[in-house]
Amino acid sequence: MRLLTRIILVIPVLLAVSPVIGGQDNLSFVSIRVAPMEREPLKRFPGMDITAFDDRNGIIEGIARHDEIEQYRSAGYQVETLITDMDAFYRQLRDSQYFARFHSYPQMLAEMQQLAESHPEIVMLQDIGDSYDKIKGRGGYDIWALKISDQVETEDSTEADVLFGANIHAREIITPEIIMTFIHYLVDNYYDDPWVHHLVDNREIWLIPSINPDGHEFVLTGNYYGDLVPENPLIWRKNMSDNDEDSLFNPLFDGVDLNRNFGYEWGYDNIGSSAEYYEDTFRGFAPFSEPETQVIRDFVNQHQFVTSLIYHSYSRVWLYPWEHAALDPPEPDLSAFKALADSCVAYNGYAPGNTASGTIYPVNGGADDWLYGEKHIFSFTPEVGSRDQGMFWPDTSFIAIQIAENLGPNLYMTYAAGEEPIIKDRTFKDYKQPGDQYTIIAAIKPPIRLTGPAPLDTASFRVCYRYNNSTHIDTLPLLKEPALDLFTADIPGADSIYVIHYYIQAQDSLGRSGFYPRGAPAAMDTLTIEISNVIQDYSAKMAQEYSLIQNYPNPFNAQTKITFSVAQSSPVKIVIYNHLGQQVRELANDTYPAGTHRVVWNGTDAANHAVASGIYFCVLQSGEQRLVQKMTLLR
Ligand SMILES: [Zn+2]
Repeated sequence: MRLLTRIILVIPVLLAVSPVIGGQDNLSFVSIRVAPMEREPLKRFPGMDITAFDDRNGIIEGIARHDEIEQYRSAGYQVETLITDMDAFYRQLRDSQYFARFHSYPQMLAEMQQLAESHPEIVMLQDIGDSYDKIKGRGGYDIWALKISDQVETEDSTEADVLFGANIHAREIITPEIIMTFIHYLVDNYYDDPWVHHLVDNREIWLIPSINPDGHEFVLTGNYYGDLVPENPLIWRKNMSDNDEDSLFNPLFDGVDLNRNFGYEWGYDNIGSSAEYYEDTFRGFAPFSEPETQVIRDFVNQHQFVTSLIYHSYSRVWLYPWEHAALDPPEPDLSAFKALADSCVAYNGYAPGNTASGTIYPVNGGADDWLYGEKHIFSFTPEVGSRDQGMFWPDTSFIAIQIAENLGPNLYMTYAAGEEPIIKDRTFKDYKQPGDQYTIIAAIKPPIRLTGPAPLDTASFRVCYRYNNSTHIDTLPLLKEPALDLFTADIPGADSIYVIHYYIQAQDSLGRSGFYPRGAPAAMDTLTIEISNVIQDYSAKMAQEYSLIQNYPNPFNAQTKITFSVAQSSPVKIVIYNHLGQQVRELANDTYPAGTHRVVWNGTDAANHAVASGIYFCVLQSGEQRLVQKMTLLR
C-alpha cells in the first residue's frame, strides 16, 4: 500500500523537477554566486545537491546535472565549474588509490579492537547497535563506540561524559580519520603526557568514528554486497534505507539523510530537510525512523554527556544550535556555546556560528538540535575542509593537516566538559639575582559554565613548588591582588637555588581542580636563575661533543626553551619540523662557542603565524651529526 502511494507521488515530481539522479556522468560540481543574506536561493536550485552555503559571501556550492546548470546560467546566475565530470573524477581517485589513504570500516574496527586488547585499563569497545543493512540481513555493520577513561569498565558519575562522532554523512570520509587519530593520540600519550593522563583519568570519553558505516563502505568501494552499483558512489550522503521497498539498493530512490532524521523539530520546514525520498536531504518517513539515529538516541539516553562534537565536512565552520531556524539558544547557554566555539577555532581558524549567523543553511532533524534541545548537551558540528582543499575529498597534502588542526579542539572540548577553573601563569621573571623572592602571578577564572553554577573556592588557590633537584614539594597560598582575577605568591629564594619547579592549582566549590601547567603535578613549570657559574657548571657536565636537552616546558603553550651544548666552537643549525616532516621554522643557524646555549620557540612559523597544536620535532644539526627531539604544542 505504501509502495503504491509512493510510486504515484514520485513520477510527476521526477518529470517536473529533475532531481540530481540518473546518469552520473553528466554531473558537475559547481559554485554559484548569489546575493548575500538571502536564504531563498536554497529553494531556487531544485534538484541540486547543496554541499556548502555561505550566506555571508553569497556562495552556494553543490552537485547538479549539466542541463540544470545551463538553466541556472540562463536565469542569469554566475556559475563556476569546480569539477566538470564527477564520474571521471571518481575514476581518477579510484585509479590513483586515493581511498587507500582512508580507513575502511573493518580497518577502524580492527584498530579499535587491537587498542581495547592492548590497553584494557583505559580502552573499552562497545557494540551499540546495528546499521540498516545489518538489521535487514543484507550485510551491514554493528555500530561501535569506543570508551577511553580510567576504570573504563565502570560508569563514573563524577566524571563528565564527552561525545565524539563522525561520518553521519557517508561521503564525509575525512571525519572518521579525525576520530581515529584522536583515539590513538589519547592512548599513545596516556603514560607520557601528564595532560592527556589527566583528561583520561577525569573524563569518560566516548568516540564513534562512523555513525553510517554502510554508507561509508559504499563510498569507499562502490560495492554493494557483491554487486557493483552502476552509480557513482562518491557523492553518496545518506544511509542505505530501502525507501521504495523493492529489496534492492538504488541510489536514485533509497537512503535517508540521518542528520535530518533526529526527533527535535523534525520536518520543521521543507528547506532544512526534504519530504521527498529521492532527494539528498530526505528526512525519513518519521523521526528516528532509521536504525542509525535510534542507536545514537538510545546510546545518548544511557549517558550524561556534557559536550559533543560530531564531525562533518566541509566548510571550515564550527556550528552550534539552532539549526532549524535562525535563532540563538537562550542565555546563559549562548555565551557558553560562543566561548567553547571560540576556544576551538583558536586552533584551526574555522568560523564559529549557527544558522542565525549565516554560516550555514537551515537544517531540521539534525543531531545538534536534538542533543541540545532534548538533552541539553553542548553540541557542535564542525565542518572540516574547504573548496580550496578539495571539498569532501581533500587533496592528499591536506589530509594530515585537516586531522591535525582538530586535535587541539578535541582536547579542549574534553577538558572544558569537566569545567575546571581556568588558570593562566603570568610569571616571566626568569632573570633574578640569587636570594631574591620569586613572585608567581596567576590569573584564575571560573570555568565555562555548562552544568550549573559553582563559584571558585579562592581559599584553595595555591602554588606548589620544589627547589633544584629536590623532590620535596612546598605549598603557598595564592592571595588575591586588588587587580581583578589576579592572585600572587612569593616563593623564597636562596643562594644555592638555581631552579624552581612549580605549578598552580585552583578549585571550585564542587572540588573540580584546574592546574597550570595543565598536566600538573606531573608537569611543572620552571623558573631558572641565570647565574653564570651555574651555567658553566652545567656545561662542564655535558662532557660529550654536544647535546640537546629536552625542551622545557613540554607540552608547551606560549613558548618552550630548547637547550643545547657544544664542547667546542661548532656550526649548529636548529630547525623545527611538523609531524609531516615539513619545515616550520629555523631557530638557529650559526657558529656557537663552547658551552651551553638556549633558543626559545614561541610556536610560530617563519611568517610569525601561530601554528596548530600537535607534535613537532626539534632537529639539531651540526656537520654530519643530527639530534632529534619530540615536542608537543598545546594551544
Ligand atoms: Zn555532513
